[in-house]
Amino acid sequence: MIAVKNYINGAYQKPDRDLWLDAIDPSTGKVYGKISNSSSEDVERAYQAGKQAFKTWSKTSVEKRSEILSKIADLIEANIDKLAEAESMDNGKPIRLAKTVDIPRAAHNFRFFSHAITQFFSESHDQISQKSINFTLRQPIGVVGCISPWNLPLYLLTWKIAPALAAGNCVVAKPSEVAPYTAFLLGKLCSEAGLPKGVLNMIHGCGATAGQAIVEHPDIKAISFTGGTQTGAHIAKAAAPLFKKLSLELGGKNPNIIFADCDYENMLQTTVKSSFTNQGQICLCGSRIFVEKSLYNQFKCDFIEKIKQLKVGLPSEESTDIGALVSKPHLDKVLGYIEKTAQERATILYGGNRVFVRGGEDGYYMQPTVIEVSSNDCILNQEEIFGPVVTIMPFETDKEALALANAVPYGLSASIWTNNLKRSLHFSEQLQTGIVWVNTWMQRDLRTPFGGVKSSGVGREGGFEVLRFFTEAKNVCINYE
Ligand code: NDP
Repeated sequence: MIAVKNYINGAYQKPDRDLWLDAIDPSTGKVYGKISNSSSEDVERAYQAGKQAFKTWSKTSVEKRSEILSKIADLIEANIDKLAEAESMDNGKPIRLAKTVDIPRAAHNFRFFSHAITQFFSESHDQISQKSINFTLRQPIGVVGCISPWNLPLYLLTWKIAPALAAGNCVVAKPSEVAPYTAFLLGKLCSEAGLPKGVLNMIHGCGATAGQAIVEHPDIKAISFTGGTQTGAHIAKAAAPLFKKLSLELGGKNPNIIFADCDYENMLQTTVKSSFTNQGQICLCGSRIFVEKSLYNQFKCDFIEKIKQLKVGLPSEESTDIGALVSKPHLDKVLGYIEKTAQERATILYGGNRVFVRGGEDGYYMQPTVIEVSSNDCILNQEEIFGPVVTIMPFETDKEALALANAVPYGLSASIWTNNLKRSLHFSEQLQTGIVWVNTWMQRDLRTPFGGVKSSGVGREGGFEVLRFFTEAKNVCINYE
């Protein structure tokens, strides 16, 4: 039986109170191992290890830090198959996706920040009239907390810890208890790469206990969190009296706006992906599709034809397009939204049901689902479902499309499909989101700022933005008269 232990001070350790949670394979519903159910004592031990390691890691040259991060990237790449299998089993995502996207991206996160830190710069200003020069020191914060969700487990965890470590911090991380297996495996790779002990510490267990203990720790001065909006609000409230630096990447309800003048085939194929990749469990999925009226009926038919071809199946099979949802409670939550369809004056055009897959009869599968809504005000269009469910609705004018897109509490990302440059620029300017994709979806350049507005979060990850988050700016003024 696999035991997901904590990784503290460069070694695997069982939780202080010897309490464990079940690790469940969502493709079968069966227990495959046990996960440390950590307490505040474990967090304290991890913090103390980080505090000790910070004395040397913060003074380690940028070149050396960069070299170690780059070695971690090499080791992730060398173990892609093993990590992908672990991720797919733990999370339910198709093995093809884990192998081609999730795990390579985890390696890329380390590789990218191993380079970015060598290019990171700070500002200086001279005031000739006063014979003074100001420059900014960018200093690591100390021990920082990184809390990540279950949907892209290793991808999002490394997206936080790589820049935190690159900038000279030590880390106490808490991956989601729902899918912690690859985070557990990462510990060993970090040790092999020569990451000094105590620089990265990983605590497993429940958000309400282990996660909360990180947030409330008085000496963990910065928290980088990705997860649900409600949890983000809770963390912000707990962290505020302690004046912590916070980065919150939260939920989304992203519009996908399709105009009749778009490149139709490209749009159609990408819309299938933006709707259902990872069972729709990506914060960036385009869950509200708005289509220009003249194209609406054609789109509806073609979209559903394409979806019929998607294979719902065991995540371990290479031919699977849609694997299992991450857990039984999550499947129930998503199906609960489907039950609200009639009372919301909406119509299921395709899907809506649980699927029983041969070899995974107790797994958490459901059909990709398309719901036609009559109003953007309905729950299905206002709340984050976070499953393989999209809504569609027609619009007539640009003004109406923009108003519909913005009329949600969230503001993470938006896609717009058009060949009209003026229109795409107008929408890019007016959409209330942190990210806009024109004629594409989830195309990422890690140098760019990443994050949301409104209830989708505060702060930006990516590129130098996140290196600024993980450092304190200190101004030094020298008078040379
Ligand atoms: P949650 O908010 O439930 O959990 C996220 C992480 O926070 C988990 O590690 C969780 O632990 C932990 N946590 C829960 N409660 C607390 C607490 N009180 N204090 C500290 N930590 C806590 O999100 P999910 O894991 O369910 O992830 C899905 C959500 O994440 C969706 O809303 C999605 O949109 C969002 N997301 C946002 C992204 C973005 O970049 N904006 C990217 C990906 C996902 P545990 O699992 O043990 O409860």
